[in-house]
Formats: sequence, C-alpha cells, structure tokens
Amino acid sequence: MLEQLNEWNFKKEIAEIKNLFDWEKVYIKLLGKKGKINSFFAKIKEVPADQRKVFGQRLNEIKKEIEKLLEVKKLEIKKLEEKKFFDPTLPGKPYLKGSLHPLTYVIEEIVSIFSSIGFIRVSYPEVEWEYFSFEALNMPKGHPARDDFETFFIDFPQDKKYGRVVLSPHTSSGQNREMRRIKPPIRMINIAKTYRPNWDATHTPMFHQFEGLCIDKDINITHLKGTIDYFVKRFFGKNRTIRLRPAHFQFTEPSFEVDVSCGVCQGKGEIDGQKCKVCKSGWLELAGAGMVHPNVLKMGGIDPQKYSGWAFGFGPERCMMMREEMKIDDIRILYSGDIRFLEQF
Ligand SMILES: [Zn+2]
Repeated sequence: MLEQLNEWNFKKEIAEIKNLFDWEKVYIKLLGKKGKINSFFAKIKEVPADQRKVFGQRLNEIKKEIEKLLEVKKLEIKKLEEKKFFDPTLPGKPYLKGSLHPLTYVIEEIVSIFSSIGFIRVSYPEVEWEYFSFEALNMPKGHPARDDFETFFIDFPQDKKYGRVVLSPHTSSGQNREMRRIKPPIRMINIAKTYRPNWDATHTPMFHQFEGLCIDKDINITHLKGTIDYFVKRFFGKNRTIRLRPAHFQFTEPSFEVDVSCGVCQGKGEIDGQKCKVCKSGWLELAGAGMVHPNVLKMGGIDPQKYSGWAFGFGPERCMMMREEMKIDDIRILYSGDIRFLEQF
C-alpha cells in the first residue's frame, strides 16, 4: 500500500490541467469525498501496523501538496483566461468614417453646375512649362505683367521654346492647351491646384482655381455675364449681389473683375465696429474675366476673325468662404489638417 502511494504520480495529473473545467474534474478526482486521497485513508486499516504511521504521515503530506499545487494551478488558469476573455454581449467598436475634404464637395458642385450648361471638365498639368503659363497668354518674356504672378520655379533644365518649368500659377495655362486639343466650339471648365508663394488670412501657397473658356462663332460679353450670373445664382443663392469692375489682364480684352458681396460681414465691411478680416470693404474679389485676347486665340491656332470667346478664373476656396452658411474668417484652416474643422463636413 505504501508503495502504491509512493508511485502515485499526482503531479503529472495536475500539470496536465488546461482550463477551469479540467481543474474541477481533477479536484474532485483527487480531493473529493470519493476521491483518491480519501480512498487511501479508507484503506489505512489494510496497511501493516508497523507501516501505518509512515503511511498516514506520507498521505497527509501528499494531500497538502496536492492542495497547494491545485491552488497555484487555479491562479495560473485564471490569469490565462482573463487574457483570452471575450464578452460577446459588449457593443462593437464603431469604424471611424472618413469624408472628402470640404473643398472636394465644392469642386464637385461647381462641376455639376457648369456641366448642366454644357461645359466639360478637363485637366492639365500642375507642373507646367512657362510658355503655357505666360507666353501663350500674351505675356512674352520680360513683360511686366508676369511680375503679377509670383511663381514657384522647378529646378529643371530649360527648354528653348517652352522655357522654365513652374508650378502652374493659374488655371489659365489650360487655355492654350485646350485650343490645341480641340477645335471650336469650346466649352471648357478646368479646375486644378495652383501655386503662389503667399501666406495670410486670404491666401495659401497651394490653392485652387477654375477656369471657364468658351470659344465659338458670335460669342460676346453678354454670354459671359449670363454664364457667371447663372453660376452665382445657383451656387450662392439669389440674395448675394455682384458687381463688375473694369480691369486689365494681358490675356483678355476687354477685361473686368467680378465681385460678390461678403458673406461674413453681409457686405458691410465690418463686424462690431472692427474691419472684416476677410473682405475689408464688404466685397470679395471673386473672379477675373474678359473676352479672350485675339493674340491668345492666334497662339492657340484659332482665327480671331472667325471666332471669339471669353474666359474667367474663379477661386473655389473663395467661393466656399463667401457662401452664407460658411463663415470662415481665415482660409488657412482649410489646409491645416485640423480634424475639429474637417469632421464637420
Ligand atoms: Zn466681410
């Protein structure tokens, strides 16, 4: 009987426990009422009298060791199970939803407004030759008008005909490319990123423009006015007012600027006695526009005796700011990556 006790490998049985369910079974098997320890105690009478004392002591030692090993095992299992614990009744984690940049929505809306009156959106290089940005727009090399367009130049070998490489300072560089691409009638809307080294409440070094170009027979300035009016009424609503001011651009003749009343100060030019940070005068310059200069038509391979056209250049960021429901007083927030601003759209 003592031999049986000494040969009993209870440590192995405990080591093999893998979860609380096993643990419970082993506990009952070893320490339960009808368990192995008790069955040894029950057989104590069968042990020869001279061995009974040793047998009893050994059995008690084993019992204590089993209790201790089982306790340690239970803690181990609990720790493991805590790590693996999964509560299927907890609500799931919601996925974070992204959204398009607010300006992307505005660009889509602008495209849809112009598409509805027959304009086709095109896309031309952002990294552009100087030629398309200036020469093709009636601003030859050395012409002072080029100074109006502060420009980023790219470190790239010059081309004999096309000059240096620039980050397109305006979408007007698409005019010549469009005239080369197709013959009139042309109804182009070119929306793209443009670049100039400016940084203040109304300027960012990267901004967007959209260029409208319409070339056909018998096109005149009333078509231009009608088109801009149609856009402004649809985009800003009927309450915003427009004024036209004579202006000068090299690539249009005659030229003018289109202003829209400021939505931040309601055209007053001030808020609570302080000058409006956005407009300073109650009006915001919305666009440059005019009849395409005959030289520009010629450089695009179009006969100015047969065809005429007009063009305009708008800023989508400005359009967005001027909308009544979006009173942004500093345009730089658009590209600051501030999630508190962006997640509102
Ligand atoms: Zn204002």
